[in-house]
Amino acid sequence: MTKDRKLIIAGNWKMNKTAAEAAALVAELKRDLAKVKEVDIVVCPPFTALSEVSKIILDSNIHLGAQNMSEHARGAYTGEISAEMLKEFSVRYVILGHSERRQYQKESDELVSKKAQAAHAAAIKPIVCVGEKLEEREGGLTEKILETQVRGSLAGLTKEQALETIVAYEPVWAIGTGRTATPEQAQSAHAFIRGLLAEIFGNEVAPKMRIQYGGSVKPNNARELMSQPDVDGALVGGASLEARSFCGIIFNSI
Ligand code: PEP
Repeated sequence: MTKDRKLIIAGNWKMNKTAAEAAALVAELKRDLAKVKEVDIVVCPPFTALSEVSKIILDSNIHLGAQNMSEHARGAYTGEISAEMLKEFSVRYVILGHSERRQYQKESDELVSKKAQAAHAAAIKPIVCVGEKLEEREGGLTEKILETQVRGSLAGLTKEQALETIVAYEPVWAIGTGRTATPEQAQSAHAFIRGLLAEIFGNEVAPKMRIQYGGSVKPNNARELMSQPDVDGALVGGASLEARSFCGIIFNSI
């Protein structure tokens, strides 16, 4: 399937995999995905495995992402990791504003936008997550929530930075539940988000920005989801923890 925008499929390993386990998984991915050129492939291990994984994927078609970073450049922020520290391991992407961080760490759109600006300042591409909860969808609030999150989380970015930003639409009710959005639901949300991006960044920029879908993506639903006109890739949680399922998603998407 051909699209103007190159697909980007990222694995969010969350708080899984020791450094040794991460090394074993990425070695399998490197071998099995070596011929893939049609997709930007990204793995996002925990911080503690970035060093190991970065060594293994040198000279491969797999890029490294982190799952979070500080909005600050340096200083007295115990337990935080800066963009500059991520750059040491050749991190090219960072997931920001994942719904789990919005829920458990109470991350706000304002904080996410500060982190996105800090990521860009270090030439790391942010993957900015947005998505409605089940009760919000059922209450007819999906578009209102998406508008608030997209405008708030991308606030302050320039057009140039927007082009280097990935938006991940992740309906919270589909994350880790096995209940995926239908291709029609995903397409409708993605088209809405692209319309917002056009309002914010202009008609030149929005058609070039990539919008990933995330929420129970598996090898057996990837093809239909990825073939939607405004779906430009996937952010994969559970199915990225095994080479077979992550590779299956990638092969079924091209
Ligand atoms: C995620 O956490 O970003 C995610 C999409 O998880 P899963 O694929 O397990 O639903």
